Amino acid sequence: MLRFKAVEETLGREPVEVPEPMGRPSDYYGLYVFNREKMFKYLNKSTYDALVDAIDNQKALSREVADSVAAGMKQWAIDMGVTHYTHWFQPLTDGTAEKHDGFIEYDGKGGVVEEFSGKLLIQQEPDASSFPSGGIRSTFEARGYSAWDISSPAFILNKTLCIPTIFISYTGESLDYKTPLLKALNSVNNAATAVCQYFDPNVKRVTAYLGWEQEYFLVDEALYNCRADLMLTGRTLMGHESAKNQQLEDHYFGSIPLRVEAFMRDFEIECHKLGIPCKTRHNEVAPNQFEVAPIYEEVNLANDHNLQLMTVMNNVARRHRFRVLLHEKPFKGINGSGKHNNWSLGTDTGVQLFAPGKTPQANLQFITFVANVMAAVYRYNALLKASIISATNQHRLGANEAPPAIISIFLGKQIGELVDKIIKSPSREALNLATKSGLDLHVFQVPELLLDNTDRNRTSPFAFTGNRFEFRALGSSANCASAMIVINAVVAHQLMEFKKNVDVHIAKGVSKEDAIFTEVQKLLIESQPIHFDGNGYSDEWREEAARRGLDCETSAPLMYDSYISDATVDMFAKTGVMTQSELIARNEVKWELYTKKIQIEARVLGDLVLNHIIPVATRYQSVLIDNVFKIKNLFPADKVEAIARQDMDEIEEIASHMQAIKQNAAAMVEARKVANRITCEREKAIAYHDTVEPYMEEIRYHVDKLELVIDNEMWPLPKYRELLFIK
Ligand code: ADP
Ligand code: MG
Repeated sequence: MLRFKAVEETLGREPVEVPEPMGRPSDYYGLYVFNREKMFKYLNKSTYDALVDAIDNQKALSREVADSVAAGMKQWAIDMGVTHYTHWFQPLTDGTAEKHDGFIEYDGKGGVVEEFSGKLLIQQEPDASSFPSGGIRSTFEARGYSAWDISSPAFILNKTLCIPTIFISYTGESLDYKTPLLKALNSVNNAATAVCQYFDPNVKRVTAYLGWEQEYFLVDEALYNCRADLMLTGRTLMGHESAKNQQLEDHYFGSIPLRVEAFMRDFEIECHKLGIPCKTRHNEVAPNQFEVAPIYEEVNLANDHNLQLMTVMNNVARRHRFRVLLHEKPFKGINGSGKHNNWSLGTDTGVQLFAPGKTPQANLQFITFVANVMAAVYRYNALLKASIISATNQHRLGANEAPPAIISIFLGKQIGELVDKIIKSPSREALNLATKSGLDLHVFQVPELLLDNTDRNRTSPFAFTGNRFEFRALGSSANCASAMIVINAVVAHQLMEFKKNVDVHIAKGVSKEDAIFTEVQKLLIESQPIHFDGNGYSDEWREEAARRGLDCETSAPLMYDSYISDATVDMFAKTGVMTQSELIARNEVKWELYTKKIQIEARVLGDLVLNHIIPVATRYQSVLIDNVFKIKNLFPADKVEAIARQDMDEIEEIASHMQAIKQNAAAMVEARKVANRITCEREKAIAYHDTVEPYMEEIRYHVDKLELVIDNEMWPLPKYRELLFIK
């Protein structure tokens, strides 16, 4: 029985015809990007050379060069039918921000001309007073400015020229994700290059790479529009499990429905035009859940591309009458969505630092970097967790589908054994390491292609996967920069310390190899507690992790505290990524955002239960009551009991759920009132977590029970079974 016109509409909806792209992907790839090919075409030779030099060697652009770049960029954009430009930045709220300005200016002769100067390209002052700054900019000094990040190319999105920028306050504090990310990448480059030079003095630069895997759900637009909770909070605040969901495991890698495939093709073509190298697509575990992954790129560019992709997906989905859900946990009882971050370091000499090499020398370098990553992740495990937690991702972590709210590292059998051997060895000699050729050590002879796919632990939040680490705890809606700032900064910090310690040994006359070995061994021993190859979803692991002293905090507002611990402040100061005042300000924003998200959810839930659920439950209850009265009129008293019993039980059941809902909804309002009076953002967020959220679960429980008893035709919201199965 179809309860909604919307359901009827969505069934049998044909795939939208995707217009054939102009040729092969290689023909239109990067069409909307001001890449080197366009630079070469639109800039004169000296401007082109100066710009490329500035990009490659991280130099500032002179005003003169900037003017000529702007002129060329404007011409390209106009040729592409563009009329507006915007600085495109990443505020501390979700997503990206943009303020469009037209190219038009008065020409002084009564008409207009298109103008775009180097000044406008390089710097802009958006009226940014309403972006959260954690108090860094009090409103009377509201000015913040955005400045071009030349390492990420300008691009055209929906006929607007977008210039990737950092966003900082007038006094220089970062108000975004990109600024500290660039600083962290710079820091890891310097620190890793210095360590690489022990092995190869030719190394001049180390680049961090990121390959993200974006998970998402699709929902039919008509049904989405019937769910105020999805529209306003991104997730269903109520809804009983569908009888069939993911238990048959028939969705993962299953064949992609035609409607969905048409959508994927469409948005991938748009992404390719933006130079986003989308490569992999597949169904995920939950019904209606999918994944897209590109080829990995340099971290800053990869992250810009991920943010662009999310925008493109949202836009293209509408053409196909879908909505993309990027929320981490849109549906209860089935998997949520994450965004795995595959992260690695590589040198300008072509060495992947997390890939075992062919020679023992290369493998000493490999294990050096692995040991430093382990130590960094161990020491800052609480901070790494703080970098991925949010009001939305908290529903996913630890729900037996994603790593628990505990950070550990999976190494796999071979690397695990190698680490054990090194730890147990009393000296480098004892491992038979010292031979005539210096480092001909069989212990470091790791086969080059070592990990087959069976040796992959899906339950680990931070897994070694052959030539990279896969940080799996990120939420699907996150800005990857948050985690990438932390991982690159803590590893940079660790490598700096490592270098210092090794140099002390060398200064005392110890050989370089011995010095490195000693320090590597020390780090591996120290970071043993973070190494865990077992089942991260098990209860035993939670207990074991607590014994090992790993951070097991489960409250998001409290996790944020590790951003302002002494060790974190020191680490970010030494790496030059963030100052203490920036950290404090950013935490204010995190707590505030947390509170607001829960506040919105609580309000939406309150509205839905009082305006949708209770009235319908009352209506159905009176149908039953009416029926009982009629039975009483119709039958002799001794028969009434038998005939009306079930209805009467149901009337009572409905009454008790309704009562529980009303009581909890009223109590939740009270809890919110109390929390709202708290002025300290941290305390307020804690209050929302501890005293408001529990009511939401409680209310949901009773609503979901009502969904099971109330007449299907009356139920006012599309059910899970209707939302979750696109044909
Ligand atoms: P899986 O789902 O099996 O983990 P995917 O193919 O979905 O793998 O995604 C793997 C991601 O890791 C891709 O984005 C890929 O480009 C990226 N990747 C591969 N090698 C590296 C590397 N050395 N550094 C960073 N990312 C990498
Ligand atoms: Mg994948």
